Amino acid sequence: MKVTFWGVRGSIAVSGPRFAATGGNTTCVEVEHEGERLVLDGGTGLRALGESIGFRPVRATLLFTHLHWDHIQGVPFFTPAFHPDSDLTLMGVHRETGDLRDALSLQMRPPQFPVGLEALVGARRYVDAGPGPFEVGPFRVTPVEQDHPDGVVSYRIEAGGRSLVFATDTEHGGALDRRLIDLSEGCDLLVHDAQYTPDEYVGRAGPPRKGWGHSTWAEAAGVARAAQAGRLALFHHDPTRDDAGVATFEARAQALFEPTFAAREGLSVAL
Ligand SMILES: [Zn+2]
Ligand SMILES: [Zn+2]
Repeated sequence: MKVTFWGVRGSIAVSGPRFAATGGNTTCVEVEHEGERLVLDGGTGLRALGESIGFRPVRATLLFTHLHWDHIQGVPFFTPAFHPDSDLTLMGVHRETGDLRDALSLQMRPPQFPVGLEALVGARRYVDAGPGPFEVGPFRVTPVEQDHPDGVVSYRIEAGGRSLVFATDTEHGGALDRRLIDLSEGCDLLVHDAQYTPDEYVGRAGPPRKGWGHSTWAEAAGVARAAQAGRLALFHHDPTRDDAGVATFEARAQALFEPTFAAREGLSVAL
């Protein structure tokens, strides 16, 4: 499997020289195996992925963790979706508060947006994912519900004997979430929400962030260590976190779990 980070930022996209080394696009991670492409979330990083492909037919599955705007805003700008010969499947876990197609349609209608969802002619099907394990081409996918406002799903993705766990937008709120440790057991790469410092989370630096739905870098390292993951990628960086802040996080997390790196835009990892 090859994992490429197209968007590593949380909440809202940022730009400027202080953020250039980490990247400013919101959540989007591409997973490739044997020519098949699985895209995790469609934040603004999805626009960059689409630009790299261009206006030509593509077959891919877009799998969503949840429908907050930093995870869907790139969809209307994904160039290959406008190609009539593209074959895109969009998948997400059904929610009572609105399913995937409704959420994508809502962000593409007046007065918010000039073009409707039907313009994405290459988006051929909208599929409910889970609640149990399922297969997408060569990928076996296991979803697990996590704590986050309006809900979120973490995914374990396995192919070719290797494994990735994608755990963005998850809050432990004290003790580490046992469901996530179990899901991550022995995985080759754990991509984990690391939006806050422990001080920020409890309110020793700015407002308390309890209940906002995110983790600290220390919790990310704790899950990786407890699950004996091969490597840890710190992910969903806060929009206020500049490159120096991300590097500080990275070093502190490495002291707890040595094979840690901060996810940075454009980085590819072979598993
Ligand atoms: Zn988010
Ligand atoms: Zn969220």
